[in-house]
Amino acid sequence: MIWYPYQQMKTMKAPYEIIDAEGVYLYTNKGKLIDSVSSWWSVIHGYKHPAITEAIKNQADRFSHVMLGGLTHQPVQKLAEKLAEWLPGDLDYCFFSDSGSVAVEVALKMALQYYVNQGNNRRTKVLSLTHAYHGDTFKTMEVGDDEDYHFILEAYGEKKDVIHIPTRIDALEEAFSRFHEELNCFIAEPLLQGAGGMRMYDISFLKRARELCDEYGVLLIFDEVATGFGRTGNRFVADLVLPDILVLGKALTGGYIGHAVTVANRKVYGGFYGDAPQKALMHGPTFMGNALACCAALKSIELFQEADYLSKIRRIEEITKREMADLTHEQIRDVRILGGCVCVEVKEEAALTGYQQFACERGVFSRPFLNYLYAMVPYVITENELVQVLDVMKAWFR
Ligand SMILES: *Cc1c(COP(=O)(O)O)cnc(C)c1O
Repeated sequence: MIWYPYQQMKTMKAPYEIIDAEGVYLYTNKGKLIDSVSSWWSVIHGYKHPAITEAIKNQADRFSHVMLGGLTHQPVQKLAEKLAEWLPGDLDYCFFSDSGSVAVEVALKMALQYYVNQGNNRRTKVLSLTHAYHGDTFKTMEVGDDEDYHFILEAYGEKKDVIHIPTRIDALEEAFSRFHEELNCFIAEPLLQGAGGMRMYDISFLKRARELCDEYGVLLIFDEVATGFGRTGNRFVADLVLPDILVLGKALTGGYIGHAVTVANRKVYGGFYGDAPQKALMHGPTFMGNALACCAALKSIELFQEADYLSKIRRIEEITKREMADLTHEQIRDVRILGGCVCVEVKEEAALTGYQQFACERGVFSRPFLNYLYAMVPYVITENELVQVLDVMKAWFR
């Protein structure tokens, strides 16, 4: 029996069974669907990309996995080298893990221990955003502020170690002036808060956050598990404002194999480096640095560099703005577009009931949640295919 994610199993509608997938299409035994979700925002090059499939097959012929405890291998070395060279600034130190949630946990542990290693045990608090989503494990749920999780965390009572603020500069300044001595880090999904409702905010907020972190010696963590690899129209938001720790996941492997990485800068890495064994980072996911995942990630990054994906994403944004310009309806609260993300927020959740089936009948796979109808398409989508996805969204409100 499969226990499906985020579902009441008793009332769940049967999921669509996928028998094949290629490019932007998922195939069922009834026909094909454009995947407007990119399998949770990860499959940026589309399915069955021959180069990625080949990279995985070639590595599988040697070995699929060896642990990184006491062992190492070329795919993980090459990927770490590639990331160090490709990522901005001195984000050069790569700690791999098997999922985005774990990679965020690692980032939070790094930030806390960075100060503990200096003999400072008072910096136990984390500053984060309202409507934040950082994963489904316990610390990431706590740092998050996702409506879906509030009820389970209530069992613990009030959060003591996490302070949530809205994306307003005055709230940011106030939080730093009140709590700076207790904060080890400020963590944010930069520019685009995904699972919290595709909320978009201005870069000036992050620039100010960088200044305040510098002023008060607080580490800045960007959770770019969703925003990395072009989703906001920037390669990484870290290209615009440099964090101390960057977390990547989802599209890291082009969505082919689950993997993630927590990348630290020289200062953070230096806080662990030395002769004292107790200052080491005590973490080690069994499947960190999986060789197949590393080969998929290397190939995915190569494709991203070779084919000028940023101009593809700019086109997706332009087409989306053009097509959605005339969309109005009494149920619509807001239409938001940034890079390869479009979100239609409705006033009542019920206004989206039945949308998934409606879209499926029109050749599109979609998965709205709460009040949010959105698309995050694979970047290889053609103009006609994208227009089809957007037309179906518009048709729903007609
Ligand atoms: C999806 C997501 C995560 C969690 O990643 P998993 O691989 O699902 O554990 C963390 N942070 C953000 C911003 C995400 O979108």
